[in-house]
Amino acid sequence: MSNPLLTAWSTPHETPPFEQIKPEHFLPAFEQAFADHKAEIDAIVSDPAKPDFDNTVTALERSGKLLQKVSAVFYALVGAYSNPELLEVEKEVALRETRHWNPIMMNAALFARITRLHDARALLKLTPEQKRLLERTWTRFHRAGAGLSDTAKTRMAEINERLAHLATDFSHHLLGDEQAWTLELGAEDRDGLSASFVAAAEAAAAERNRPDKAVVTLSRSSVEPFLQSSTRRDLREKVYRAFTARGDNGNANDNTADIVEILKLREERARLLGYDTYAAYRLEDSMAKTPAAVRELLERVWVPARAKAMADRGALQELIAEEGGNFQLAPWDWRFYAEKLRRTRANFDDASIKPYLALEGIIAACFDTAHQLFGLTFTERKDVPVWHPDVRVWEVKSADGRHQALFYGDYFARASKRSGAWMTSLRDQQKLDGDVAPLILNICNFAKGSGSEPALLSPDDARTLFHEFGHALHGMCSNVVYPSLSGTSVFTDFVELPSQLYEHWQERPEVLQKFAKHYQTGEPLPDDLLKRFLAARKFNQGFATVEYVSSALIDLEFHSRPAAAAEDVHAFETKVLEGIGMPDEIKLRHRPQQFGHIFSGDHYAAAYYSYMWSEVMDADAFGAFEEAGNIFDPAVAKRLHDDIYSSGGSRDPEEAYVAFRGRKPEPEALLRRRGLVETPEAA
Ligand SMILES: [Zn+2]
Repeated sequence: MSNPLLTAWSTPHETPPFEQIKPEHFLPAFEQAFADHKAEIDAIVSDPAKPDFDNTVTALERSGKLLQKVSAVFYALVGAYSNPELLEVEKEVALRETRHWNPIMMNAALFARITRLHDARALLKLTPEQKRLLERTWTRFHRAGAGLSDTAKTRMAEINERLAHLATDFSHHLLGDEQAWTLELGAEDRDGLSASFVAAAEAAAAERNRPDKAVVTLSRSSVEPFLQSSTRRDLREKVYRAFTARGDNGNANDNTADIVEILKLREERARLLGYDTYAAYRLEDSMAKTPAAVRELLERVWVPARAKAMADRGALQELIAEEGGNFQLAPWDWRFYAEKLRRTRANFDDASIKPYLALEGIIAACFDTAHQLFGLTFTERKDVPVWHPDVRVWEVKSADGRHQALFYGDYFARASKRSGAWMTSLRDQQKLDGDVAPLILNICNFAKGSGSEPALLSPDDARTLFHEFGHALHGMCSNVVYPSLSGTSVFTDFVELPSQLYEHWQERPEVLQKFAKHYQTGEPLPDDLLKRFLAARKFNQGFATVEYVSSALIDLEFHSRPAAAAEDVHAFETKVLEGIGMPDEIKLRHRPQQFGHIFSGDHYAAAYYSYMWSEVMDADAFGAFEEAGNIFDPAVAKRLHDDIYSSGGSRDPEEAYVAFRGRKPEPEALLRRRGLVETPEAA
């Protein structure tokens, strides 16, 4: 009865042997991992030797290996291939983890050792990476409450435990509401829908044991194209209402009460640590530093974005009138008429380019771009164990032929996968004890092809693929010594730079002409269609920006006002939206009850703005290639690799950016790219 999580792995590159790992293995493995880690921490604390960098900071970096190994496999499965048994285990694990980490992060003796070193850091003769590690370690403990009184620590531990429970609860509720709803499409309900949409709807029905039917589900990749193309206004309204009511249905999955409690507990935690609001606490440890800096950026973008959306709203209403429609544009009409307008104005629709965007071709484009920029090569491996037959694995080699990483791609939607797209790792790069090569994952929710048709991506899907692959490169190119500084272990408002920057190559003619080929004829993307596609990219950006920035603003309001102000979540939502002049026909991209980014964990809490903060940098950063006159310019690419993609958290992000670009980022490039200001060419 050996537990595969507790034995050494003899698989290629010591990858997890997924076919042997069962849900019942996790709890005992976590128990063992907690016990091992606790013993390692105890040994550091009780070390009679005077604290030095090696016996304290490095020892901490070496601790918890088993815990990292077990957690990585567990959370990869919870996200990408869960089942009721695993979700039950998750509730238990979330609680145990908090109980395990609280006493470590608030250990006074351990913190005293770290503080002693931190105080003397100027005299320790550390490498720049070691200096950064010491600063980050001290900050992490300090911000977790290691310096608080015992009473405050006890309360802090209670808060953390309760917050962990609420975060899991929030995401389970959301998943519950998403799984509970489908809309069956009869023959008369399919008007306007593309053949590939119907095929995906049939696959979704088959997966739910309803063969020979077709269903719309509440995953974004089903809802968005439906709202864009269904001519049935009544069904659009139905789908839209169900989508925006997730977690807000007054049933057992309702998240409203959770939100109120989460906000109160976060505020209390911030106060214990000496901050007025959670946002002030959260943002101190970011590039932005203060709520005021975040608000300034968001407002700078909000004003032109809203103006653009209002102008577009007028055009959509006109289009309705031209068609003889006698109704006011509603939120469930926006995408439909915007798509129509795009077809007439930019003479482009997603369906015309889809046949050229086969998943296989876009994966090849991702790999080729990484090859041209950083010299990486990718070879598919069939001998590495995976968690689901759809998962594929590639070996990544560096320019000099060295093994650099394994890359796992899990691209297709299924009911056992949570919605969205993300990157994660099964093992991070580090060099503390030998060269550890990373195992990096991209998880997406694309519709599968059916019959003889391969999986075809929408332009948004193609962009998502590049985005997540940009994160993957951040993990795979990582070249640091210490594990806690590896890859994506950077500030939240910096972490989207490598991913969003990578999206720029996806929309370049040099890349599309080479890899976007018609899946039936093999003919390359015609020039004229390519031009219309690129022009159409700026279309409806007012809407997209308003949807996003309003969500970022409500996140900031939730966390920078007293928690008591949001006691009535619905009233709070209305008030914030009125305050910013939200157009009635556009809703938040994530309504509070669905806002997993900020409530299923605190990673993006008071930090949803991060995407836009990073976008200022990515738009500005790509300018370096444009200025060089070559999107693969070797000198710029080398700086990009050395300063951004490989340095992980080993440097201050602003310093790393300035090293790459020669100056601080400027937001004009972002506004131009989104078409929110006149560009010289367009004027
Ligand atoms: Zn991202």
